[in-house]
Amino acid sequence: MDLAIAFECPQCKRQFLQDLVEFSPGKTHVCEACGSWTVLTSDSLRNFQTALEDFCRT
Ligand SMILES: [Zn+2]
Repeated sequence: MDLAIAFECPQCKRQFLQDLVEFSPGKTHVCEACGSWTVLTSDSLRNFQTALEDFCRT
């Protein structure tokens, strides 16, 4: 499965696509825009839910 979700950086608020496989629990991510380290948040999970619903509809 090749699914990417929109991940919003809490520092600069920019969104970028992140492969779903990269979202393992406890994993940190580097923002491509500002270089901040971020972790998975509830906001990201809401984005993930939307992305997954879109994925299932197509
Ligand atoms: Zn950022």
